[in-house]
Order: sequence, then C-alpha cells, then structure tokens
Amino acid sequence: MHTRDQRFARRTERMQGSAIRELLKVTEIPGTISLAGGLPASDIFPVQQVAEATQRILKNNPAQALQYGTTEGYTPLRELIIERMRQKGIHATVDNILIVSGSQQGLDLIAKILVDPNDRLLVEEPTYMGALQAFNPYEPRYIAVRSDDQGIVTEELEAALQQGPKCLYALPNFQNPSGVTYTLERRQQLVELAGRYNVTILEDDPYSELRFEGEHLPSLLALEQQRVQQPPERPYAGNVIQFNTFSKILTPGLRLGWVVAPAEVIRMLVLAKQGTDLHTSTFNQLVAYELMRDGFLESHIPLIRETYRQRCNAMLDALERYFPEGVRWTRPQGGMFLWVTLPEHIDAAQLLSRALEYKIAFVPGAAFHPCGGGQNTMRLSFSSSSPEQIDEGIKRLGSLLKDTL
Ligand code: PMP
Repeated sequence: MHTRDQRFARRTERMQGSAIRELLKVTEIPGTISLAGGLPASDIFPVQQVAEATQRILKNNPAQALQYGTTEGYTPLRELIIERMRQKGIHATVDNILIVSGSQQGLDLIAKILVDPNDRLLVEEPTYMGALQAFNPYEPRYIAVRSDDQGIVTEELEAALQQGPKCLYALPNFQNPSGVTYTLERRQQLVELAGRYNVTILEDDPYSELRFEGEHLPSLLALEQQRVQQPPERPYAGNVIQFNTFSKILTPGLRLGWVVAPAEVIRMLVLAKQGTDLHTSTFNQLVAYELMRDGFLESHIPLIRETYRQRCNAMLDALERYFPEGVRWTRPQGGMFLWVTLPEHIDAAQLLSRALEYKIAFVPGAAFHPCGGGQNTMRLSFSSSSPEQIDEGIKRLGSLLKDTL
C-alpha cells in the first residue's frame, strides 16, 4: 500500500492508480494495435438513429428532457426495461428498478449501502477490475474463489461462504476479463448455495445480450425467482441484485444502466444516489427511451453480435496460427474479451513493455486478481479492432512470445 498524502481520507489508500494504465497511454501512438481497452465497436454506433431521436425529443418534449428528474429514473424507460426483462423470465415492478449513470455507478452505490470496513466480499478470480475499484474505497476484505472454463468453481464456494461474506460478486456471462460463461449447473448451484447461506449475490450482467454462439442461459436473477417462487405480480424480493447497462447494446457514452433489486434496497440506493448525482441525465434517458420504444434495439443488437462473432473468430484463428505451444486461451461464446494463460515463468506485465515496442497492447492479468497471482495471464479484447488489425496484432504478439519462450 502506498503512503498517503495526509490531506486525503484514509479510504484513498485503496484508490491507487495503476502503472499499467500509464503504460497503456502509449496505445494512442499511431500504428499501435490495442487489444487492451474494453471498448464497444464505435464503427457500428447508431449515430443517425441517436441524432433523429434527439431531434424528436427536443421538438416534442424539451421541458422534461432538459429539466431535473426523479432519482429513480424516467418511469416509461423503467417500464420498457421491465418488459424486456419479462421476455427473459424475470419479473419486476418499477419499485424494483433504479436507473443509474452506468452500471459502474450501481456497483459504487451498492457498496456504499452494503459494505462496512473489513466486511468480506466474495469474488471470483479473475474478476472485473472496475468492480474492485468501485468496492475498494469502502474498505472490504476479499475472499477469492477460483473460476475455470465453466465459471466460478462451486465445489470451492461452500468453504468460502462459511467465512461469512456479506455479498458475492458474480459475472455469469462472457466474463470481463476471462470471456468465460457459467454453465447452467454452476448457476443453479451458486444460487442455491448463496440462498442457503443467505448471502446476497451481486450479479453483473452487461454482456448477456452479446451471445454469438450457443443458447441463452437463465440469469442468476431468473433462477433466484424460480427458487423463491416469486409471484409475477408482486415486487421482486429475493437474494440477487442485478446490474445491467445500455453501454454494450446501445452506446457507453450515454452513461445509462439500471439496477434490479428488492424495493427496500432500491429505496436505500435512491438515497445514496441523491448524495452522488441527484439523478441520471434526463436527456439521455429520454434518448434511450425514444430508441427503445420503436424496437430499435431488436435490430441493432444482432448487428453487434455478428460484428463481435467475426472479430472473435478472427482472434481465435490468429491465436491458432501465430501463438507458440504452451499458451492456452478461452473460447468465448459472446462478449468482448478472451483470456490467455502463458507458461508460469512469463510475467505478462514485463511482456507488455516489450509488446508496446512491437506496437501491440493488451492488459496483463494480475490487476484482475484481488488476492494476488495471475502474473502469467492477459486479457485480449476483440470488440474494437477490425479482423485485419486483430490478425496483425496477434501475429506481432505471437512472434514476441516465440522470442521470449
Ligand atoms: N461491469 C462490467 C463487467 C463491465 O465490463 C463494465 C464495463 N467495462 C461495467 C460493469 C461498467 O459499465 P457501464 O458503467 O458503462 O454500464
């Protein structure tokens, strides 16, 4: 832990910048191929549709669009969200939904209302670095449970639950960073075990709609509703809190996400959010509503899926072709990332400094491990580069690896 400037609060000790982030600034140098950033594909952003929706809002509803709004969020948008969730087997009422300024804000707010210093948080390993950044200022202690190619290893979960964690943070679909998806069996075991130990599950689910291979699997929230036999007309009142977002199915620049939780949790989140930003941008909520009510997402999401399928395949083909023996990687069925495991003696952070000389960037895996380890791993993102760039990037990385091994 670094020494704190005495002007800053104690919680800032856990808010460290990363050396890797500094290194990755050079990815802006022309000619560098970055497989590092977790950016959605900007070449397929619905620019025209957003422009038209914006015009309509300013013409038809300017006073509301430009005014303060309620903290809970724009009710017609919450109702559309509920309708879309219903098609995926999830029942909720507007009392169960809070619109947030990106699901990242949801992660911060939930920690703000649930986590006291030294509370234990159970996370899978590796896990989403941004969640650790959101949780860290509230000073939790982490319990890490291993994950494999079927998701969080449920055989090891019970021992971890016995240590009394306050919540369990889980990413069941095309995980950031690993690209791994939990099997149905692991999902069921997880929900059943967390229910037995009465531990709240924080289900982060930004990628489930980006499946380009295989069958959709029910979310932990849907399984929880089956477990507690939730009557559809009543507000949801189970053990799973779900975080979701428009960032990956519309555009991240709108900063729009939503939280699904029992009504009393939403009420507390509302109070926490009032202290943070009063409410999420009314204007942006109206833009999303305007696009969604015309069914635009139903035609746009398949385009995103197809784009990522092609890019993921390009990456898998290139890995096959250019990477040396002894290196393993995951085969994602959706999302934006895959995960590479190098031989034990290779340090991916050191490799990155050399990779930048070859004008290729990735994220070394250690930062996704809250309890240490993962030095020989890396995250590669396929979402925001063309198949040609991906091929060239993996080729450069492959020849560097062959040199290094
Ligand atoms: N959770 C996960 C797993 C993510 O990958 C991201 C985006 N990188 C977020 C949450 C935050 O997304 P947003 O705030 O844009 O909704």
